[in-house]
Amino acid sequence: MEYRRLGSSGLKLSALSFGAWVTFGRQVDQRAARDMLAYAHAQGVNFFDNAEVYAHGVAEEVMGAALHELALPRDSYCLSSKAYFGRLPDPAPTQRGLSRKHLTDACHQALRRLRVDYLDLYYCHRPDEDTPVAEIVLTMDTLVRQGKVLYWGTSEWPAVLINAAAEFAHAHHLIGPQMEQPQYNMLHRERVEQEYAPIYNSLGLGITTWSPLASGLLTGKYAAKVPADSRLGQSDNAWLREAVLDAEGGAHARRAAALPALAMEFECSPAQLAIAWCLKNPHVSTVILGASRISQLEENLAALAVAQRLDAAAWQHIENNLAAS
Ligand code: NDP
Repeated sequence: MEYRRLGSSGLKLSALSFGAWVTFGRQVDQRAARDMLAYAHAQGVNFFDNAEVYAHGVAEEVMGAALHELALPRDSYCLSSKAYFGRLPDPAPTQRGLSRKHLTDACHQALRRLRVDYLDLYYCHRPDEDTPVAEIVLTMDTLVRQGKVLYWGTSEWPAVLINAAAEFAHAHHLIGPQMEQPQYNMLHRERVEQEYAPIYNSLGLGITTWSPLASGLLTGKYAAKVPADSRLGQSDNAWLREAVLDAEGGAHARRAAALPALAMEFECSPAQLAIAWCLKNPHVSTVILGASRISQLEENLAALAVAQRLDAAAWQHIENNLAAS
């Protein structure tokens, strides 16, 4: 495993990490979740990502129970949670957004569900136009000083807002945002590569990126039909199936269809090439993987070796192909 600094912080995260979205508490049972966590940890993965909204809090309960059962040393892994959406489907007004009230309650609840004393990373899951940036920064600073959170950050915030939070923190000697969690994959790259470009160095921002495979589209598994045992084949993921397969009028699906042939040129799987592509961006602190079975983790973790063996000419060839598809 390779370990990378979380931006300018001293924390070293595994370059590949593992998240719970739409799998834990929904698609896979407790035993499968436990076995995947154990496998990932044994391979050197040291960051497991979660959020209050995943399976209405159940994803955190599943992860907490699994880690408890595995009895892994707490100092050998990092855990995250994120607050904003509340625990859907119908959170009360006090139970969503980024108010001091909700950020604090959601932190306490995540600690209970995950069965830990502190969160390593805590994210504002989306921007909240109803809460002043000052209130958010002050609340996060308090949670860090209380020892309940080690690093705080944002997810899918515009660069200008991240900058505003960092400037407020700096001006008031408070702890500012350390990381962002954006979507980043071959089909979705603009925010990471362009919008955030000015703030990586100025803020020391790290990024922990999500959906490296665009929910599995970049594995090529959806080229012919939607397999019943896949994420997009789940009946309660109809909204996601539409969002992924119809993105940009089907252009994403058409571009993904070109990936298997390209991957074959480099003697790897499409998933490995797609994940290696994320890893080659030096601003990426960790690529958060998703998986529904151990065999996927095994395949995807081998993307690290692919990233290490591809040279500049290979990446140029890949970029040319992406631009042409
Ligand atoms: P991916 O885009 O990599 O999708 C993962 C899914 O693709 C798996 O669950 C599996 O689904 C399928 N898959 C993975 N590997 C393979 C393979 N080798 N062959 C075939 N199919 C494969 O990542 P996620 O969308 O899961 O995102 C990763 C994590 O990022 C999440 O768990 C979450 O922690 C975080 N995230 C954060 C968000 C945010 O707003 N901050 C939003 C979304 C995610 P299946 O087998 O069921 O088809």
